[in-house]
Amino acid sequence: MSKSRRHFLKTTGISAASLATTGLPFDQKSSMKDNGVEVVNPRHRVPVSFIIDDSTTLVNLAHFGIPQFAEVFPENYQQDWRSLPREIPDSFVREFGEWCHEHGIKGKYSIVPYPACTGWVNQFIPGWTKNELEDSLQLVRDLMVPDWDIHPEMISHTRVIDIKTGRPFPFATPDYMENWEWSQQKSADELAAYQTYALQILKDAGLYCDGLTTPGGYGSKNKSNLAQASLESVRGVFNAEIPHYFRDLYTEKEQSVAPQVLQVSGLNSHDPKCVVSIIGCTGDWFGGWDGLTTGNVDKFITEDLQQGRMVDVIDSGEPAVMVCHWPGIYYNGEKIGFNIFKEVVKRIHEKYDHLQWMKLSEIARYWAAKELTTIDLRKNTLHLHAPFSSKDFTLSIARKINNPRLLQKGQERSLQRVANKLELKENTWCKENGKAIVCFNLDKGENELSF
Ligand SMILES: [Zn+2]
Repeated sequence: MSKSRRHFLKTTGISAASLATTGLPFDQKSSMKDNGVEVVNPRHRVPVSFIIDDSTTLVNLAHFGIPQFAEVFPENYQQDWRSLPREIPDSFVREFGEWCHEHGIKGKYSIVPYPACTGWVNQFIPGWTKNELEDSLQLVRDLMVPDWDIHPEMISHTRVIDIKTGRPFPFATPDYMENWEWSQQKSADELAAYQTYALQILKDAGLYCDGLTTPGGYGSKNKSNLAQASLESVRGVFNAEIPHYFRDLYTEKEQSVAPQVLQVSGLNSHDPKCVVSIIGCTGDWFGGWDGLTTGNVDKFITEDLQQGRMVDVIDSGEPAVMVCHWPGIYYNGEKIGFNIFKEVVKRIHEKYDHLQWMKLSEIARYWAAKELTTIDLRKNTLHLHAPFSSKDFTLSIARKINNPRLLQKGQERSLQRVANKLELKENTWCKENGKAIVCFNLDKGENELSF
């Protein structure tokens, strides 16, 4: 269709709620309006983030998980799992978390609730003392939570758990593994019940979640139900306003990695809903999921800073979300994945001065606001109706602008002009190539921008 989907909805009077049932993302190029107003990236920067899968407290998921995977597919899992340490120590969590904090890194850190069926993070894990578990959780709360979203990665990441009994089903087949077939034919309600169980364990362990991560292939052939189940389970357990999840990554140049805002409903009610699928843009080229396969910095960005997946994605302007697995970051104590990550961070910051590290929940909120805020121009005022608030909401406006003023909750303020887009932050604006770039914190509800 020639018009954008959102424009189409508006002019034909079809409600966004009817679209929601399709489970399709909004057209990612739909944000350019006929009125010359476009929602651009926060502060006109490129979001970057780091997804860490297969982390938990203490347990090295690869050591305990590989023999369970091998029981189902012996030919595919011949790694020497006994050579892997059973623990990834808190001293390493601390070293990693502190380095990341110093460098402004943000992202997602999994806590698998019942890692490879070893024990429960909200109760006890055999092989470690109660105090060791409590210290490990406290470290996550204190050090990781400020910069990282915490996700469950379903319950065990290996066997499916009977949520009536809390026991693993006794079948070592793909149909009873979380990362293979079990989820593919389940209804949204069945998936939601399972995911609720996982989320509740983390809640009991004193960890808050705005989202969840799918283990392996979980939900890969059942994406619409997965989206709906993620919306319901994360809202149900944590009352999260904008749930998100991580299921897919794409490494091909032609494939968009923009977040997908799904299952939209109730935009004009007091309780608008949506769920955001965050898309990774790299493979695990750090230390692999098993901590036995060395990665490669150049696949992200070459030494001359000219090529690599991160260069392609950052240059495209879409969020560049890297993906790794915790056992490969630790890499048997050699920290090979961590060292690759450090070098990637060094190189991307050497090349670019307009990166913005964000948690997945921050990216999800921004994209929900970007896709779902309606913007109408009347005379010299933009009227923005926002179902969700967002920090650093940034508009590019192809019009003559002087002294932009923001009206929110009956309060008017002038935005301060800055010299260029690198200086943009909340309540500022600048001119760039004949357009005005305006940045402010978007309120839920009504906002007016006059100029
Ligand atoms: Zn995983």
